[in-house]
Amino acid sequence: MSPSPQQSTDVPTDELRSSLDGELITPQDGAYHEARRVFFKGIDRRPLAVARVAGSEDVARVVTAARETGLELAVRSGGHSRAGYGTSDGGLVIDLSGLNAIEIDTAGESAWVGTGANAGQYTVATGEHGRVTGFGDAGSVGVGGITLAGGLGFLSRKNGLTIDDLLSAEVVTADGDVLQVSEVSAPDLFWAIRGGESNFGVATRLQLRLHEISEIVGGMLILPATAETITGFLEAADAAPEDLSTIANIMIAPPMPFVPKAAHGKPVIMALMAYVGPAVQAEGVLAPFRALAEPLADMLRPMRYPELYEGPEPEPQLATGANFFADSLSPDAAAGILEWLPKSTAPMRAVQLRVLGGAVAHTANDATAFGHRDRGMLINISAMYMDPAETETHDAWVESVAAAVGRDGAGGYVGFLGDEDEETVGAAYPNGIWERLRELKRRYDPDNLFRLNHNVPPAEG
Ligand SMILES: Cc1cc2nc3c(=O)[nH]c(=O)nc-3n(C[C@H](O)[C@H](O)[C@H](O)COP(=O)(O)OP(=O)(O)OC[C@H]3O[C@@H](n4cnc5c(N)ncnc54)[C@H](O)[C@@H]3O)c2cc1C
Repeated sequence: MSPSPQQSTDVPTDELRSSLDGELITPQDGAYHEARRVFFKGIDRRPLAVARVAGSEDVARVVTAARETGLELAVRSGGHSRAGYGTSDGGLVIDLSGLNAIEIDTAGESAWVGTGANAGQYTVATGEHGRVTGFGDAGSVGVGGITLAGGLGFLSRKNGLTIDDLLSAEVVTADGDVLQVSEVSAPDLFWAIRGGESNFGVATRLQLRLHEISEIVGGMLILPATAETITGFLEAADAAPEDLSTIANIMIAPPMPFVPKAAHGKPVIMALMAYVGPAVQAEGVLAPFRALAEPLADMLRPMRYPELYEGPEPEPQLATGANFFADSLSPDAAAGILEWLPKSTAPMRAVQLRVLGGAVAHTANDATAFGHRDRGMLINISAMYMDPAETETHDAWVESVAAAVGRDGAGGYVGFLGDEDEETVGAAYPNGIWERLRELKRRYDPDNLFRLNHNVPPAEG
């Protein structure tokens, strides 16, 4: 949903500042330019003020100020929203980055994390106890945003989505109430926030289940990409034990030191893999992938789980993309990816293939607001680029790839969506989930205060 015009400019920022335990940063402050930035640096918005909140009471104060003034309200954990929903032109931003405490219970069965922490920080902290919770493939993503979207990553087939490990959450609602939300205390709201993103309130703390995992066999395997190796990879990933999760990026090989020179500029499968189990058994599990073709680089090895998040991450200005669920990928669709990859001028572009199944499918499709558990894979097409003038070109490329790969219009994963129309967002919540979310939105946020997101409009009537 695009930023909407402000309804009021009469905002007592001094009053709001003095009511906060945290900071309120306005354009006059030296920290303003840093405070208004998000992960995609090409998103250049100028909020009226950024509140670096110190706790849930601060969040409630800013929520109340936004409600009373009609100002647009942005909520930011890690700031990775491709649409830039973590910032605003002229509105108020709740910046949760200061709420980054991680408390691990003594028995090591769960952890409370402030939603200002990112996945990497959380994983390093819990990893010291030989425990983990699965997030996505990038350590810099905020635990707030990824958890409320669903959370697909290195442990999806082993343990399910991040929301499957969510035990409870502290949520500030549109009324400014601070609620403890769990299956027991508020089952409807707990259902909605597990996939319904920021539509229902601001999550300030999350209680997540920990799994006793310290060593895995994982890392990166790079194979030459042909239609046969791509479909072969997906078949092997589907047939593998649930202890193995894979994320296969079909891309043009960058000139990186670990990629042989002869492969630079050629299509490759750059696969990130995580096998939870003994190294001796990993050999057999990984053999079908290694047998697809002579690997261009084989960096799979026993490692501590948090090592998966080590290493540099891209720092793109802007990104575009399209994603959708599918049950299989035909050889023609794989050939379509290979045909289209070289046609993009984006410095980074990839078609990411994530085979699902395993623990993702152990939970019923309607048990949470993430309703795609019965699908075989997620296909995520993305292009990252630097120059805003190129947006149309890259958007067109993404659409061409989606058509070549056989997108059927049946929705996608909200975590990877950009700024979309209502029809696209609605399709991401299939089989009655959209209608149920709209009913709950009417109950918890009837005036759509939380609208700078993949918006679920309140049900009418
Ligand atoms: C490089 C990169 C890699 C990614 N990899 C994966 C992956 O492997 N798996 C996966 O599932 N997703 C992945 N994502 C998608 C990511 O999970 C979503 O973009 C997520 O919303 C980002 O969360 P954030 O807190 O960093 O972003 P933000 O921009 O801060 O927030 C994103 C959205 O969530 C809302 N939000 C954030 N925190 C809260 C909160 N505490 N309470 C209420 N609403 C909140 C915001 O208002 C906004 O609408 C990736 C994204 C990027 C850019």
